[in-house]
Amino acid sequence: MKKLCVIGDPIHHSLSPVIQNAMIAAAGLDLTYGACRVAGEDTARWLTRAKTEGYAGFNATMPHKENLLTLVDELSVDAARIGAVNTVCIRDGKVYGCNTDAEGVLRALREAGMAPEGKRVLVLGAGGAARAVVYKLVQAGAARVVAANRTVERAERLCGEFGAVACDFSADTLARYAAQSDLLVNCTNLGMTGVAGQFADLSFLEHLPAHAGVFDLIYSPRKTALLARAEQLGLQISNGLDMLIWQGVFALEHFANERLDEAALAAAARAALEELE
Ligand code: NAP
Repeated sequence: MKKLCVIGDPIHHSLSPVIQNAMIAAAGLDLTYGACRVAGEDTARWLTRAKTEGYAGFNATMPHKENLLTLVDELSVDAARIGAVNTVCIRDGKVYGCNTDAEGVLRALREAGMAPEGKRVLVLGAGGAARAVVYKLVQAGAARVVAANRTVERAERLCGEFGAVACDFSADTLARYAAQSDLLVNCTNLGMTGVAGQFADLSFLEHLPAHAGVFDLIYSPRKTALLARAEQLGLQISNGLDMLIWQGVFALEHFANERLDEAALAAAARAALEELE
């Protein structure tokens, strides 16, 4: 049986083992998936260990996603453009790095009825997750992508790279762009469990058109204050759980090196997560 795992620091909170083992069982694959706490300075040492111990691959979360860029033998286009690796495959001693977050969010948006093609999208945040989101939204054919960030220079750098529009995070600016948006995607960690920070003002949501969708990358809690208010306003909402599931589905296909029954895998992951609750 080949080994897989997720590495990170901290790692105890990761849902990846539950999701992946449920999908592995559903697909009948001869794999097992664990979790390893690996400190940020030990990425290279971990990679050597993974190779010698016969790992088929691993997922990476904070703080390894950038470190891996220069450690793998081959990078996927998405990983190189986003500047982060979340999935590593080891085949015949060769190490392949890819990024399934971007495909994951796109699939989750489509499944939620929020396909970005031709839409004007307002992205909140300009951190690591926002990079994957903005990159994929532009690539998927969004009509316009605006990224609003507290540190506006960070948004300017990101938008300059991917052909999006940067703006500040003030209530007025958010309201102005919300009025011209079909879809809002929260990529900040405001509202996340354990993070001391909430949106100071959610009034920008009132400016979104009635047909707009609101997608929050956060999945803990399942319904953030942002989503609760959007729902109250009659807007369509979705949390980030499906993004997590779909990035996991695509990672497992990379590990297995074959196309699998994606819908069956996602259903197995969802069922396993429901059992946890
Ligand atoms: P990150 O790189 O640390 O970026 C955090 C972002 O939040 C930055 O844009 C930051 O703005 C903004 N922010 C933080 N505190 C703020 C505040 N008080 N006011 C305004 N803006 C604030 O984090 P990340 O990796 O991008 O992750 C962001 C969120 O996405 C997290 O909640 C994470 O759990 C979630 N996520 C979900 C998935 C999924 O599969 N569903 C995948 C990846 C990430 P500054 O630039 O000004 O600091």
